[in-house]
Amino acid sequence: MTLTDSELERYSRQLVLPEWSGEAQERLRGSSAIVVGAGALGSPAATYLAAAGLGRIGVVDSDDVELSNLHRQPLHYTPDIGLRKAENAAVKLRALNPEVEVDPYPARLGSDNAETIVTGADVVVDCADSFETRYAVNDACCALGVPLVEGAVLGLGGQVMAIVPGQTACYRCAFPAPPSPESVPSCREAGVLGAVAGIVGSIQALEALKLLTGLGTPLVDRLLHIDGATMEHTLIATERREDCASCSRVAASAQSG
Ligand SMILES: [Zn+2]
Repeated sequence: MTLTDSELERYSRQLVLPEWSGEAQERLRGSSAIVVGAGALGSPAATYLAAAGLGRIGVVDSDDVELSNLHRQPLHYTPDIGLRKAENAAVKLRALNPEVEVDPYPARLGSDNAETIVTGADVVVDCADSFETRYAVNDACCALGVPLVEGAVLGLGGQVMAIVPGQTACYRCAFPAPPSPESVPSCREAGVLGAVAGIVGSIQALEALKLLTGLGTPLVDRLLHIDGATMEHTLIATERREDCASCSRVAASAQSG
């Protein structure tokens, strides 16, 4: 596989990086990612993955674009109100980079369909806004050995962690049980600022690129917390739990990447 003239020009500013290479670019072109959620985190995450030259991106979202989404979901514009988010995201990502195959999944990811959607992916970027989806994604990625980047944003804060099933702490290792619904305010109640979601989603894209290409050191066995108000970044160590219901039986060799 060699890069075309068009690819060499499109990716020239990343190809020139000492940490990047034509080999990394080709590896990316041969890779497939699933982005769960085409909203506040999924917009920046999918945009940067498509721009960087992933071979295929699947975008999963069951919602329609609403006026109240637009301040934080930059894949969706005012004329897009009422369109399916997954379909609209696919249109935008294809326009950004026609070299990328983008497959919309206008469905809600749950424990019933998570493994079907995740199968064949080299990385999953979880940009969902519900704990139910987050655990379903984590469980499917652990069962199939697919590396995962988890992210969340609320108010002016956000957090990210990368997971290599069988090798590093998974989401359920870090958070064995979901919090009680009344203890966590929703985005509608607590609010969220678009720029903070942009930071978190961009970090998720970077972590996915690192997992796919071997660039740098991925954010594994650590949870990054960002306070957008103070710009304080905190790294919290996580470790695998022997009794983890998701990953304790995953063999280290299960990593697909
Ligand atoms: Zn685990």
